[in-house]
Amino acid sequence: MTLSPNLIVHNAKVITLDPTKPQVSAVATLNGVIVATGDDASILALAGPGTKILNLNGAMVIPGFNDSHNHMLEVGIKLTRISLDDCKSLKEMHDLVAAAAKKTPAGQWIIGEGWNESFLVENRVPTRADIDSATDKHPVLLKRFFNMDTVNSVALRMAGVDANTPDPAGGSIERFPDGTPNGILRAAAKLLVRNLLPAVTQEQCVEGIDKAGQQYLTYGITSIQEPGLYPYEIRGYMAAHREGKLHQRASLMPSWHGFREEENEAELDDRAANLGIWSGLGDDMLRMTALKMAVDGGTTSRTAWMFNPFVGETTVRDFNRLNPADLRRYFKRGHDLGWDIGIHAIGDRAHHESALAFADAVAANPRDHRHNIIHAYFASEPSLDAMAKYQIGAVIQPTFIYFEGDDLFRDVGEELAHQYKPAKTYLKRGIPMIASSDIPSTYHYNPFISLYSLVTRKTHKGTVIAPQEAISRMEALRSYTASPSWLTREEHLKGILMPGMLADMAVLDRDYLTCSDEEILEIKVTTTILGGKVVYQRG
Ligand SMILES: [Zn+2]
Repeated sequence: MTLSPNLIVHNAKVITLDPTKPQVSAVATLNGVIVATGDDASILALAGPGTKILNLNGAMVIPGFNDSHNHMLEVGIKLTRISLDDCKSLKEMHDLVAAAAKKTPAGQWIIGEGWNESFLVENRVPTRADIDSATDKHPVLLKRFFNMDTVNSVALRMAGVDANTPDPAGGSIERFPDGTPNGILRAAAKLLVRNLLPAVTQEQCVEGIDKAGQQYLTYGITSIQEPGLYPYEIRGYMAAHREGKLHQRASLMPSWHGFREEENEAELDDRAANLGIWSGLGDDMLRMTALKMAVDGGTTSRTAWMFNPFVGETTVRDFNRLNPADLRRYFKRGHDLGWDIGIHAIGDRAHHESALAFADAVAANPRDHRHNIIHAYFASEPSLDAMAKYQIGAVIQPTFIYFEGDDLFRDVGEELAHQYKPAKTYLKRGIPMIASSDIPSTYHYNPFISLYSLVTRKTHKGTVIAPQEAISRMEALRSYTASPSWLTREEHLKGILMPGMLADMAVLDRDYLTCSDEEILEIKVTTTILGGKVVYQRG
């Protein structure tokens, strides 16, 4: 009996990331795993009667991307709603709502997301007057891309919001000249209506995971890690997997201290202590990984925990999502229970304190761990020392350089901007450095935007941020393929194209290593292979 490969790809430029065989022209897979790599002649000689043979005509092949900070459920749920990202007029918005109303049973919510008045030809925010005629049988909620909603009259009635309703603390109910609410709810006032939304169902979770996953395949993304999940969302992933609708290998980080405002300390302690599991439970399609924590906010919203005030401010304000005094206790608790921990830390102070607190927890109880700092914008010298000594990872989002880099100078000033997302420094110090997207907190999840940003350090306006932190194309590729498997304890399993590893690959329409810098942004994935199966082919 021979066990011939299920699939052979050949006549390709395969970037393996395997130091013993960095580039080959052919790969053979069997039962989801790579069984051989090498030149065409030796690999094609392994073919049997049932082997599918794919001639790639010289195309480049890379390991499948692993986006290790990707809120896939949120992206997916958004895809089940009306997308207003590209909405160009109030008329179009009205018609989208009217079309949804035709398909939605009376009384159910119609939700849209992503409008931005600066993209509308009318150049103003929509009021209920613009959408009321689309339906009087459905409550409608249209979320702006940030911090504002427009709702229709049905929704206002359901929320009991009328001319007599006072503005809630921290928010405003916008009004027409006659004093009646015009349907625009800002900041905290959004909750008056948002609190009425029904809970997301398991069915919706599955539909969202299905929809987002199919889109991700078109970008060669074969693995994701989703940070900060509620138990019902974890069940959503399990349901999607059972129904054959999980299209990526998914690593799930349960929500822990600081991440979700409404979860309390006792509940979270119970979650970590009493499930009878720790990081690593699962298989190569679905597994539980680190606890997700958060300490501070962000720089553009000026809510990050900084050593010095933001530009134009005189004091460091406290917008922290947990009490920093509790940081060491939480880390020690999670670490001693056997969990890995990933913590959102953006401000230089937040990063510094997190790194030192991790170091203390590991020093007191040394064991294999994959603790990591998520976002990791600004690293102090002591934090770099601690991260190197105790192998604490830095999970950065290079797309932030591309989409938000220009705002940095305004918020943190020249000197700190020059130390932003120090990818090269992390690598030079031997710190595990992982790149990811953080979609939907960034504009796009296309991994090539991240690779471009890591290599060029350029924003979309062309500003160069901290050019001394640029890394090579191979280093950038590794940070989005091989390195993320360290986070999930799967270095032995994926991210490198070599025998014994999972056969996850992406075929590119051009040569990532020799094309111009600017062309990196244009690279398209033509074929995606997951577990030795072709799961996407560009039409
Ligand atoms: Zn995130």
